[in-house]
Amino acid sequence: MTTLVEDRPAPLIDPFARAISYLRVSVTDRCDFRCLYCMAEDMTFLPKAEVLSLEELDRLCSAFVRLGVRKLRMTGGEPLVRRNVMSLFRGLSRHLRSGDLDELTVTTNGSQLARHAAELADCGVRRINVSIDTLDPAKFAAITRWGRLEQVLEGLAAAKAAGLAVKINAVALKGVNDDEFDRLIAWCGDEGFDLVLIEVMPMGEIGGEVRLDQYLPLSIVRARVQQNWTLDETDYRTGGPARYYTVRETGRRIGFITPLTHNFCESCNRVRLTCTGTLYMCLGQEDAADLRAPLRASDDDGVLETAIRAAIRRKPKGHDFVIDRRRRGPAVSRHMSVTGG
Ligand code: SAM
Repeated sequence: MTTLVEDRPAPLIDPFARAISYLRVSVTDRCDFRCLYCMAEDMTFLPKAEVLSLEELDRLCSAFVRLGVRKLRMTGGEPLVRRNVMSLFRGLSRHLRSGDLDELTVTTNGSQLARHAAELADCGVRRINVSIDTLDPAKFAAITRWGRLEQVLEGLAAAKAAGLAVKINAVALKGVNDDEFDRLIAWCGDEGFDLVLIEVMPMGEIGGEVRLDQYLPLSIVRARVQQNWTLDETDYRTGGPARYYTVRETGRRIGFITPLTHNFCESCNRVRLTCTGTLYMCLGQEDAADLRAPLRASDDDGVLETAIRAAIRRKPKGHDFVIDRRRRGPAVSRHMSVTGG
């Protein structure tokens, strides 16, 4: 039931009194990289016919904005490989101009940034997240299977030139990049980037790789980092799940996303939409709501808004990711590329 207060629909509040103000949208499940903790090399992607058009994605995002979402993040797959994706950013930027949206942003592997950074900035994007797990070109090629570090660094240069604030996302992988955190912190300091370290999450079958072997608790990483750097507590929040510190020596922030060693669900304000219009109310649970049928059922958004409200009423209290020897399979069957990181 929609209650009108000054012509505004009632905000989205879940059963645990959390206001939903942040929507992440996976605009495509396709990617030009095959990061070994994220995807199998021979992924089967969705047939194009099942994927929402950019106009439909705009309509869905705009419905969420009308219901009180203040932050939109485009992710994937690799959002910047979707053909004509900039028209989606261009269209959604109207909500920034109207003041209905605080932030329009993107999480990207950076491979297409050199082409798109200036236009992103022109669409009102102010901050972007770029995923880089290593600064070693050979290791980068091995982790991403298909990626080239140099291309991503060119993209980052373009982002800086366009005035975009950059946050680097790095997944901590045991035996892979755990000797590089000092280098990443120093490089981010030099470049003026913030850094977020992420624990590997048990999502989707990834072929021969075994997650237990990749998993590195960030509690250990932080203790190791603190041997060489001074981490000052900060109450900086972005509306995302990271806990931030300031690195005193560089003046830049470092964040830790710890879904396994620390549960951050109590302050969760997010839901996730796939490129087929499926809404996941929690990254770590299987329950989902189909919004494509209500979207296509009528040109009027009433049916869609009712479906969104019904979904939010089912948002669970939290996830229960576990990586241990008894449970070697994924905790959720879908890959991160389906719901977006
Ligand atoms: N292609 C874009 C990118 O590379 O940032 C956006 C999508 S990607 C799925 C988003 C983030 O999720 C990346 O930082 C990636 O490293 C991270 N990621 C993917 N699979 C993960 C997993 N199983 N555990 C933790 N992080 C993961």
